[in-house]
Amino acid sequence: MKVVALTGGVGGAKLVLGLQQILPAPDLTAIVNTADDFRHLGLHVSPDIDTLLYTLSGKANREQGWGREGESWAFMEALRELGGEDWFQMGDMDLALHVLRTMRLAQGDTLSAITAEFARRWGVDVALLPMSDDPVATWLHTEEGKLEFQRYFVERRCEPDVSRIEFQGAARALPGPGVIEAIGRADVILIAPSNPYLSIDPILAVPGIRQALIDGTGPVVSVSPIIGGQAVKGPTSKLMAGLGVPVNNESIAAHYAGLIDALLVDSGDDLLASLPSMRTPTLMRTTEDRARVAEAALTLARGVA
Ligand code: GDP
Ligand code: CA
Repeated sequence: MKVVALTGGVGGAKLVLGLQQILPAPDLTAIVNTADDFRHLGLHVSPDIDTLLYTLSGKANREQGWGREGESWAFMEALRELGGEDWFQMGDMDLALHVLRTMRLAQGDTLSAITAEFARRWGVDVALLPMSDDPVATWLHTEEGKLEFQRYFVERRCEPDVSRIEFQGAARALPGPGVIEAIGRADVILIAPSNPYLSIDPILAVPGIRQALIDGTGPVVSVSPIIGGQAVKGPTSKLMAGLGVPVNNESIAAHYAGLIDALLVDSGDDLLASLPSMRTPTLMRTTEDRARVAEAALTLARGVA
């Protein structure tokens, strides 16, 4: 069974890791948000792709929720000594990835080719497809003015109120190589419990991807990022509240209206009135949780196929 998952970073990687436990990795494709990508200290950083690479290769620091396990920080210390900007943490091993990616992009390689090469070297057999090889950048219109994604997310810790979200470059971006084909071939398409506004919307903003999901024969099922009226982590609930959207599963279903066939919600939450839904504990703490949520999402997909 071929499964495609649309994903951001941490929340999405949990689901993809769950899928990797229950299905052969070569049957899995992750279409990854790249609108968080940015240049920092002259380097091209792809936070969501890196989270998937680290998670699926078993290198992720699970406690911290980002970066690599066993990381060292000599580079950051030296940077600080010299007065360099230190609001964005780059570990020594993480740095190697950013340097190599930046160098190869400058030589004319594509983000998708570079990502595939890194995945191969680390024994990741899930196809990791950037949503696009073209630059797309999330900008937040806030009470403090217009902020680039990482400035809002990391430097300002999602504190400013957001009135509008913009995906610069999206309208001119082409879907990454293999993205449309993978969606067309998929028996099931999952939308991970990633942030709908910051991680999934940019993917859907790339012309052709939304239509491919609608045209595809595979059912589209999402796992809700909301549990008990709260997002598990990050700015999802704050963004929803700020945009005047009630923080609940009906809002997630409405956000994906016309796109998803069903929504997987937490066992403590109500089933939806508007759409087929199913309940399971959706908080993914352990490896077993991840596999169980992935299995439940596939069961729900079979039910609405
Ligand atoms: P980021 O790109 O690293 O910020 O991560 P994502 O966008 O992929 O994921 C963030 C979203 O995942 C947040 O809205 C969280 O509520 C959600 N999330 C994180 N962990 C879990 C979990 O264990 N279960 C569920 N249902 N949602 C989760
Ligand atoms: Ca992200």
